Amino acid sequence: MTITELYAAEPAWLIGSVFLLSLLIGSFLNVVIHRLPIMMEREWRQQAVDLLAQKDVGLKPDLQDDGAIPLPKYNLVVPRSACPSCGAQITALQNIPVVSWLVLRGKCAHCGSPISGRYPLIELATALLSAVVAWHFGFTPHMAAALVMTWLLIGMSMIDVDHQLLPDDMTLPLMWLGLLLSLFNGAVLPITPTDAIIGAIAGYLSLWLVYHAFKALTGKEGMGYGDFKLLAALGAWLGWQQLPLIILLSACVGAVVGIALIVIRGRDRNLPIPFGPYLAAAGWIAMLWGDQIVAAYLHSLQR
Ligand SMILES: [Zn+2]
Repeated sequence: MTITELYAAEPAWLIGSVFLLSLLIGSFLNVVIHRLPIMMEREWRQQAVDLLAQKDVGLKPDLQDDGAIPLPKYNLVVPRSACPSCGAQITALQNIPVVSWLVLRGKCAHCGSPISGRYPLIELATALLSAVVAWHFGFTPHMAAALVMTWLLIGMSMIDVDHQLLPDDMTLPLMWLGLLLSLFNGAVLPITPTDAIIGAIAGYLSLWLVYHAFKALTGKEGMGYGDFKLLAALGAWLGWQQLPLIILLSACVGAVVGIALIVIRGRDRNLPIPFGPYLAAAGWIAMLWGDQIVAAYLHSLQR
């Protein structure tokens, strides 16, 4: 029996394997969530410096780099992860998802500073949601695609929670990938290219319209352009037919969480609450159970 046959015949093996793989992916997502916003800020800073240098036409060439602080290399791989308190490098053994955090009891092995419980939680959440995807879709191309979408949605949601920002580097590739996969005409995603293209356009435009109507009425900005791009991506993946459900679900999830935050933490209701995580959660639910939810709703109307 090959491993492919085993996965097809024994869902438990598939779900278990996906769970373990996704723990590692969750560990990498922790790196992305922490570093990508820093990388973006450095890039913007560099662009601003370059732009200012261009404007100063009379500047001597050797002065044009003034203000550009040479920064050490920083990306998703370099430098190696280190303790933020003492700078001690994290060894491979201390980098095992969830397990290392439990063994170290949430403290740096070198200096004993606490390590946030968010890291193992994100690893665990990634593994659990991915296991649900494997259980739902079985060993199919759709499962592989849905896993990639799940991982990207978790990453961008957490960045949005931290920075009120959905990186173009995540929303746009997600959208292009959805459009690309729709070309297989149902072999990977259960939609046609037409559904996907209209989904992407309608997703972007619907929130764009809400944004400008809200701004015209209240003078405030209720959401960001990242939200339009995320809904465009969800439209590309799930087709335009799922957009009303996604918007409805995200509003419900957002209302429940928003009210809970105000009640529990006494959160100021004028503080910006990122919309991205709600859209992402709604898109994920629609990806798995959208058809059943719509069918159940239509069925209830007929009675
Ligand atoms: Zn330390």
